[in-house]
Amino acid sequence: MSGGERIAERELMLPALFLIDLRKSLTTSDLIAELTHLMHPSGEDAKILNGRKDTKFSQKVRNLVSHHTLERLGYATYQRIRGNGIFQITETGKGYLIENMSIIEYLLSNDFAYKDIKVSFKHVSIAKEALKKVLTYDENLMITEGTKRNRNVTLYKRSSKLRDFAIKKYTLDGHIKCVVCFFDFLDFYGEIGKNYIEIHHVKPVLQYGEEEENKFLKDALENVIPACSNCHRMIHRNREQPLSVIDLKACIQPRHNI
Ligand SMILES: [Zn+2]
Ligand SMILES: [Zn+2]
Repeated sequence: MSGGERIAERELMLPALFLIDLRKSLTTSDLIAELTHLMHPSGEDAKILNGRKDTKFSQKVRNLVSHHTLERLGYATYQRIRGNGIFQITETGKGYLIENMSIIEYLLSNDFAYKDIKVSFKHVSIAKEALKKVLTYDENLMITEGTKRNRNVTLYKRSSKLRDFAIKKYTLDGHIKCVVCFFDFLDFYGEIGKNYIEIHHVKPVLQYGEEEENKFLKDALENVIPACSNCHRMIHRNREQPLSVIDLKACIQPRHNI
């Protein structure tokens, strides 16, 4: 077995565990179908392998099964029940899943590109093996602020910090504008709109280990942009493929001369 395959398995461990827990029990072919749906592989991984029905991605899932990766780590059991191999999560697996749930939710709910999700899951798994802490910054928590979803106060506080950093960077003369359409909440709504903007994560923002926070946040600004609520929704209109700022601008310019 090559080292490359092991790395590939690490990309799939957390999302696979997430699905095994969600569905209570899963066969290998269910796992392939559901992981494909969840991670929407593209590029090399979406290619059909020579003379087979399999894609490179489904082959990776099969490797995860045949190398007994989840069983070896004690995260899941794999048993033959009525001729079908079936995965079930263990208590240890549940613990590992709960510990990583905010990362999983963050990576799977922001419509990131497949290659970014893949690389992030791999790095999360490697960091956790080295007993490094992995921290998320989840903008969705900010958007759903009104629903008082405060189940994770530290994550909320951390995400606010990134938001404040981004607002500081993009604010000019007390105004922060949408990078797509230049909508200005303060201009339009007055005082109530002051400092309001949504922060879109173009690439995942994850902190591995004990990196100095201010430096980390500064670097993270490369991966986030401020957008008004309308443009942010339009960016995510196609969940499989979020639009870039340039592409969304191109949609509105011909009609509105921004
Ligand atoms: Zn906008
Ligand atoms: Zn977004």
